[in-house]
Amino acid sequence: MSAERRTLESTLSRSNLTGPGDKYEYRPTAVMPDVKVVKIGGQSILDRGRAALFPILDEIVEARRTYGVQVVLLTGGGTRARHIYSIASELEVPTGVVATLGKYIPMQNARMLQMLLAKHGGLYILPDDFEKLPLYMQMGCIPIMSGMPPFGYWEKREEGSRIPPHRTDAGVFLSAEFLGSRRAIYIKDEDGLYTDDPKKNPAATHIPRITAKELQDKGLPDLVVERVVVEYVQRSQWCKELQILNGLVPGQVLAALRGEDVGTIITG
Ligand code: ADP
Ligand code: MG
Repeated sequence: MSAERRTLESTLSRSNLTGPGDKYEYRPTAVMPDVKVVKIGGQSILDRGRAALFPILDEIVEARRTYGVQVVLLTGGGTRARHIYSIASELEVPTGVVATLGKYIPMQNARMLQMLLAKHGGLYILPDDFEKLPLYMQMGCIPIMSGMPPFGYWEKREEGSRIPPHRTDAGVFLSAEFLGSRRAIYIKDEDGLYTDDPKKNPAATHIPRITAKELQDKGLPDLVVERVVVEYVQRSQWCKELQILNGLVPGQVLAALRGEDVGTIITG
């Protein structure tokens, strides 16, 4: 009997997966490119309650029913998530713990949203349920999940901060990129990106369209989406655009779901 080790012949069989020869550029399959990946803002929408949320849900249901738009909804955390972030970071727990705690509020929001949309096929899903999306879509469901990416304890620390850099905006982008959707859509409470936070600076002006690189170069004091998303959209393979729109303006959600350039488009 030979003492030789058995190996399965394949390109990477003798690789330690860290050498230069292991780099391999390819474009992955777009898993469900037609699905619109949409965030319902936490602080900007959900915390405002029914007055803000219900008209948005009506437009989502209309887009689904009348125009056959396939939508996956992801939820933000909002003020209650910020509360736990501030307590946890004051207590100096590691970023991974803050990120783990940060998943509960968006999850609660997703579960409430599911109940509200149940009669229209609202379905609470976990990231692992991506595999079942084709079935859910075919049945006319509206899958709803937490926007928080599941890094949890493995979340990376950002220099000079204890707040997890990947929060629900990042989760929405990463979901769109995985599914092969061209645009990540963010429903918030402003008409998109401004030169500064319009709530604090009345002189801030609206930016309808900008590249992520231009946006980074501007060095704006505050942004309408998490900074990692502006960085990632520049090296994505499918999700090349971030659309931020105002869910408080009637018609904007429906227009966005029909592919119109309302709000701000940040391109990668
Ligand atoms: P979400 O509820 O989706 O988490 P956030 O409240 O975190 O949304 O972010 C949206 C808010 O960001 C807006 O309500 C706005 O007040 C603020 N903001 C900060 N900087 C900007 C900017 N440059 N342009 C537009 N809005 C900004
Ligand atoms: Mg936010």
